[in-house]
Amino acid sequence: MMMQLPSQKTKIVCTIGPSSSSPEVITELLRQGMNVARLNFAHGDFASHRRTIHAIRKAAAGLNRPCMILGDLPGAKIRVGKLHTEPLMLEKGEHVLLTTDPAAGAEAIPVLYDKFTDSVTPGGIIYLNDGFIQLQVQDVSGAAARCTVLIGGELLSHKGLNLPGARLYVDPVTETDLTFVDFALHEGLDALGVSFAEKAADILKVREFAAARGSDVYVVAKIERAEALENIDGILAAADAVMIARGDLGVQIPLEDVPAAQKKLIHRANLMGRPVITATQVLVSMTANIRPTRAEVSDVANAILDGTDAVMLSEETAIGRYPAETVSMLAKIAAATEREQKAIKSLADLPGYFRTGGGRENIAVEDVLALNILDTVRALNIRYVLSPTQSGHAPRRISRFKPDCWIIALCGTEKERNFLALSYGVSPVLMEHEAGPGQEAAIQFISDAGLCRNDAKVVLTEMTSSEQPDAIDSLKVITLRCAD
Ligand code: PGA
Ligand code: MN
Repeated sequence: MMMQLPSQKTKIVCTIGPSSSSPEVITELLRQGMNVARLNFAHGDFASHRRTIHAIRKAAAGLNRPCMILGDLPGAKIRVGKLHTEPLMLEKGEHVLLTTDPAAGAEAIPVLYDKFTDSVTPGGIIYLNDGFIQLQVQDVSGAAARCTVLIGGELLSHKGLNLPGARLYVDPVTETDLTFVDFALHEGLDALGVSFAEKAADILKVREFAAARGSDVYVVAKIERAEALENIDGILAAADAVMIARGDLGVQIPLEDVPAAQKKLIHRANLMGRPVITATQVLVSMTANIRPTRAEVSDVANAILDGTDAVMLSEETAIGRYPAETVSMLAKIAAATEREQKAIKSLADLPGYFRTGGGRENIAVEDVLALNILDTVRALNIRYVLSPTQSGHAPRRISRFKPDCWIIALCGTEKERNFLALSYGVSPVLMEHEAGPGQEAAIQFISDAGLCRNDAKVVLTEMTSSEQPDAIDSLKVITLRCAD
C-alpha cells in the first residue's frame, strides 16, 4: 500500500456544518488536508450528527485515510433566549432589562441562566454576541438586571452572553453535556472537546464518565476562561490535548491579552507534550471571500512558528462559501511556514522542564531520546522516524519538538491511530503488532509504503516509558537497501 504524505505537517481541524456535511464535500476536505472533523454539539440534533458521522466515516474509508472525529460539547455557555422581535436593535445609551423570568414583558431580553442575578453586580460588564454588544449593569432586582448599552448593535435570539470576571454558579460540564458524551461514545467518536473548562476536575469528569461506560476517549480541553489560564498545568496534565478557543477567550479576558496568552499556552503545551489547537477566526474572511486577508495568513503562520500542532476552522468550513478552498489555503500557508519552523529545538530551550525537581535525575529517558532524534535527523538529513507505539506516547513526545521529518507512528489499533491525528508531523499508520513490530517489519513497511530510497537513512526508535530494569529505550539509525 503506497503512502502519500501531505506537504504540511501542521494538522487541520474542520468544523462540519451545513456547507460541508455531505460525503462529497467531506471527501474534498480530506483531500485538501483535513485531519480532524469537528462536530459542534451546540448546534443540530442527534439525528443530524449521526448522519454527519456516517458521512465522515464513509468519506475517510473511501480515501483509506484516518480522520479523527471530535465531538465538541456545548458546555455551560450562557445564552440569550428567544427574543419577541428580532433582530433587536440596541442603541448606545439606552436602558434594557435582562431577565430570567419567562413571563417578563416583550421588551425584556430573556437570559437562559437561572443564577444570572447572583452572578451580576452593579457596574459589571456584560457582553452579548461575542462581545459585539457591550452592556453595563445598573441595578439588580429579583430575576432581572437593568443595564445601559455601552456599545450597541443588532441582537438575535440564542446569541452567547459573557460575564467576564463574574462568579458562575454552573458546572462547566453540564447534564446536557453528559447526554452528548453518551451519544458520542455510542457512536464511537474518537475525541470530546470540553468547553469552558476551568480546572483539571472538569476534564476528569468527562474521562471518568466515559471510563464508567467502558470507553477510553481522547479529551480536548478548550481554554476559553481566565480560570483555565490560572490552572493550566493541571488541565494540561489531565487532558490529551488543548484548544485555544479564542472566540470566548477574547471576551472572557481582555481581547488585547489573547495573543500573549496564546503564545504562552502553545509553549506550555509543547513542554508538556500535549498537542495544541489554535482556533477561531483563523481564516474567517474566507467564509465569504475566496482569498483571506494578509493579517489572517500571518496569524496562521505565527501560530505555526510558535509551535501549534493544529489549526482549526469554524464557520469557514461549517457555513462558508468556500470550505475546500479554505482548507487548501491553510495547507499552503502551513507548508510554506514549516520550512522556517523554529519551535523548541534543543535541551537548552527546556531548562525548567529538564530540571523539574531541581536535579538532573528527573530527566526522562524518552526526552533525551526525543532530543537526540532531533539532532540525528538534522545532522544526517533523515526524512522518516519510525516509532512503533502502543499508546501514542512515544510519537507525541517526539512531535512536540516539531522536527523537520515525518514521524511515522506504527499503531496497533485504529483508535490509537485516530488519536494521533492532532500531533504535528505524525503520520499514523495501522500495523497490527503485539509488542511493537520488530526492526524487520518496520523496514518492510517503509519499502511497502513506497518511501524507500537506496542508501537513505531512517531512525527507528522504541520508547518503553517503563521503570522496569529490563526496559530498553533505543534510537537506531538504519541505512536502507531497497529492492527496485
Ligand atoms: P466554540 O469554541 O466555537 O465552541 O465557541 C471556540 C471558541 O470559543 O473560540
Ligand atoms: Mn467557545
